[in-house]
Amino acid sequence: MVAETKPATPFTTEINRAAVDEYPMSDRQDFGDIDRGFIAGWENDQVFNDKGDLIHDGQPFTYISDDKDAPESVNPSLWRQSQLVRRCGLYKVVDGLYQVRFAVNLTIVDAPDGLVIIDTTTSADLAKAGLELFRRELGNSKPIAAIIYTHTHFDHYAGVKGLVDEADVVAGKIPIVAPGTIESFNKHAIGENVITGNAMSRRMGYTFGLLLPHCDCGLVTIGLGSGADNMNIHMTYIPPTDGITKTGEVRNLGGWDFEFLYAPDTEAPEEMHIWIPAIKALTCAENANHSMHNIQTIRGARTRDARNFARYLDETLVRWGDEVEVHHGPHTWPVWGNETVVEFLESQRDMYKFIHDQALRFANQGYTPLEAAEVVRLPEEIGQKWYNRYYHGGLHHNVRAVFHKELGFWDGDPATILPLLPEEHAKRHVELIGREKILAEGRNAFGAGDYRWAVQLLHHLVFADPDDAEAKNLQADAYEQLGYQQEVPQYRAIFLTAAMELRNGVTGAGQVNTDSTDTILAMPVDLLFDYAGVHLIGEKAEGVDISINFTFADTGQEWNMWVRRAVLNARAGHVPDAQLTLEGPKPLLAAILLQPGKASAILDSGKVQVQGDQSVLDTLAKITDIFDPNFNIVTP
Ligand SMILES: [Zn+2]
Repeated sequence: MVAETKPATPFTTEINRAAVDEYPMSDRQDFGDIDRGFIAGWENDQVFNDKGDLIHDGQPFTYISDDKDAPESVNPSLWRQSQLVRRCGLYKVVDGLYQVRFAVNLTIVDAPDGLVIIDTTTSADLAKAGLELFRRELGNSKPIAAIIYTHTHFDHYAGVKGLVDEADVVAGKIPIVAPGTIESFNKHAIGENVITGNAMSRRMGYTFGLLLPHCDCGLVTIGLGSGADNMNIHMTYIPPTDGITKTGEVRNLGGWDFEFLYAPDTEAPEEMHIWIPAIKALTCAENANHSMHNIQTIRGARTRDARNFARYLDETLVRWGDEVEVHHGPHTWPVWGNETVVEFLESQRDMYKFIHDQALRFANQGYTPLEAAEVVRLPEEIGQKWYNRYYHGGLHHNVRAVFHKELGFWDGDPATILPLLPEEHAKRHVELIGREKILAEGRNAFGAGDYRWAVQLLHHLVFADPDDAEAKNLQADAYEQLGYQQEVPQYRAIFLTAAMELRNGVTGAGQVNTDSTDTILAMPVDLLFDYAGVHLIGEKAEGVDISINFTFADTGQEWNMWVRRAVLNARAGHVPDAQLTLEGPKPLLAAILLQPGKASAILDSGKVQVQGDQSVLDTLAKITDIFDPNFNIVTP
């Protein structure tokens, strides 16, 4: 879909032009490093899967050439990052270490007795294509000796079935090493992306600009990658077989030792750093990047601990700082040379520590999160390093995130404890001041380049009357200019998507499915019932009293689920007085549980055995919610 976009205004043009002076534009080291060790890419930068589907398409990004100055509608620092990360292909990092770089890297350790894969990209198709490119270009036919997941995010595990057969993993032929206990890894890997999946998908559509056109008035980059990977492909999952729970643990994989530093509650709930002494190569997973990372990812996830980023980066320096020769990450490009790597890790450590300490200093001075976010500035020694710039995280929301982590959601202002809802507030505001006056002031603010004020003023009009096209279009124009000025790609994407939905309404395109069959299958049973619980329509479930026994035939697990007091609970084990007992394979029982309205088709297939009163499922259907993937955001 081609969206209506408007050019940068003179105000935006001037702000983006002046921003050049804020950045170390003459430091071009990254442009050399990013091409270092390049071996091969794909024809036209397009990757197809076995069925002929386009799974990575670099074509829409070809207008972003290295020699082209930032367009008026793009912040110059963000433009520079988009020039870098649009690259894709196979790279030799050092002897024995290769990367196939998409938005997520497939890192291949060419160990003496086999390949060890560190992180698997977002989809089985991408992973498979990446491994094929490596094998073809290097004539390397060594078997895969092991897989490592550095952390619990889907873009690091979802490609696994493009690399190995689950049967080989289950049979113990190929270990999958991951941080945390296996139970904990499964819980966080699946839990973080599924329980809140619908909300997160919609928010990802906004934050990654999945609905935006690829042009200098739309998506230029997602920051840690180009945005050329197809996000709507099938994700896979195989639970890990070997958990790392202590720093200093060593595994021999493919004939080389791998040493681990356990770093939980950092960028992900379970995460680890990996040292390969044979080649003096280190990865701090996503705790060290060519970007400031998120203390709170605005797609939505639990808030992280900035102090832990710093703590574990420092532990890493103590352990391997003297020896390390290369740092490779699961996103973007490596850092070479002992001195450079140490400086990189020290600088990233201090960046997170600075944010943590200064946010809490202001908190202790009585600042609210927003007030602190407006005044915290990185010191030059940190802020003038390209790898500390805001291509994934942003300083403004990270400062607020530290408050959130340490002090919770309340900003400390009594007026925000029981505020009127935005819709009600808006109606009263408009009634008091008058639509025409607000609209006129909105036009003045837009005309003066005061876009933040314009957006806030017009928010009242749009929320008081979502059919007010004049107000919506003007607010869209203001959001758009704000978007053009942002260094943080997620702020840009949010503002531009807001503009688009104000102009065109919600189109429904650009969703990411985070609850694939594999993730539902891998979901521990207790989590499956947790997921069912968040579907229960509390206000309709009052007075309902049902109890269902489940037997998961594939694992032999028995569970009982009941709804009483408008709450869905579950426990291991059957109860004798359940009204209904269902026995069948987990995917079918999961389908019945999550969509009881469609249960009859499954029961008719005969693959699920039923005992007792089937009408209980009709009752369950009436109290089970169906989530709208396209809920409103810019209108009430
Ligand atoms: Zn990632």
